[in-house]
Amino acid sequence: MPPSTVALIHCENYEPDNVKSAIERGISLLGGMRHFFQSGESILLKPNLLSGRPVEKAVTTHPAVFKAAAELGLDFGLKITYGDSPAFGNPLTVAHRAGLAAVAEKLHLKFDDFENSILTSFPAGNLVKHFPIAKGVRSADGLISLPKLKTHGLTRMTGAVKNQFGCIPGLTKSEYHIKFPDADHFSQMLVDLTLCLKPRLYIMDAIIAMEGNGPGNGDPVQMSVLLISSDPVAMDTVACELFEVPADTVPTNKWGTIFGLGNSNFEQIKLVGDSIEAFYQPDFKVERGSLSTKHQRISKIFKNQVLAKPVIQESRCTKCGSCVKVCPTTPKAVDFLNGDKNRPPIHNYTTCIRCYCCQEVCPENAITLERPMLGRIFQRLIK
Ligand code: SF4
Ligand code: SF4
Repeated sequence: MPPSTVALIHCENYEPDNVKSAIERGISLLGGMRHFFQSGESILLKPNLLSGRPVEKAVTTHPAVFKAAAELGLDFGLKITYGDSPAFGNPLTVAHRAGLAAVAEKLHLKFDDFENSILTSFPAGNLVKHFPIAKGVRSADGLISLPKLKTHGLTRMTGAVKNQFGCIPGLTKSEYHIKFPDADHFSQMLVDLTLCLKPRLYIMDAIIAMEGNGPGNGDPVQMSVLLISSDPVAMDTVACELFEVPADTVPTNKWGTIFGLGNSNFEQIKLVGDSIEAFYQPDFKVERGSLSTKHQRISKIFKNQVLAKPVIQESRCTKCGSCVKVCPTTPKAVDFLNGDKNRPPIHNYTTCIRCYCCQEVCPENAITLERPMLGRIFQRLIK
């Protein structure tokens, strides 16, 4: 089986038996569990646990997908653990809120250590040669990555390549936004991280994906499909094809191909399972302009005139302070004015690096990304 094979499997809903048989069918089309694992290995499931929002908001990997992957692993004789590091907050509390911990308790799965890390050397890294990896990840023999298909302010979409970012515990993740503030360098880091961790298999939950103001506050959209592959770049490329976005405008795809993580040439990807025709969503709400390195450099220079900026909708803001906590800059580029927590925080667009973490974590959908007029013109010109 060539490595760049992606199984597309129709699945209309999250009814557990449907999800399990769909994933089982997809894995079997890729060569079966035996192709990826040996019985007795300890394998960690890495879902997307961005935040503890209700399941129907489509922020996190659905519990039915998590359950099916866990059961298939257990049936094969794997020792299954799970974990993720959310944007902030206690990882296990978020797993409870997202509905995964209840499933895990029934299956006796341990939530592994995602609060402490082991500095892991990766001399082959193109940009990053050491990562602080969660102990829970390091203690497993391998990973199954369970991404959720969503839009993303910085990298346009979050899927298979970006899902490994949560293997870096807690607020250490913020440091990477400071070190690599633009989409290209941030994506190079993500590709190195995925090369370092080498998940054996990816199962993408796109039964209900997220469009619009993702990854934390977009709108759920029915896509009725699961994608399964061992090539994360090919998987994300096929996802782009579904909503008709050129794959190389997603920087994790571009750098994933250049650094040898996988294949973003759609013509070279073998599709198995159900016909892709059934899953096209051309109206999917996602940024569609160019994100090339040259344009990013120009954007950086004219940041305030060109790049989308996070804007707080005061009427929705509950002054919870989550955006302030997650902002990686020093001093904070979003903060309560003079420490007054009775009024919404305000942004400092001069020091803001446009990482969009504040928009990602706001629990009230009170932060939207607004592109200035010049930025909209610039985007139309470079399309
Ligand atoms: S995270 Fe959202 S709701 Fe909370 S203070 Fe910031 S803008 Fe307001
Ligand atoms: S204000 Fe928001 S977008 Fe700007 S640096 Fe802070 S978290 Fe990132």
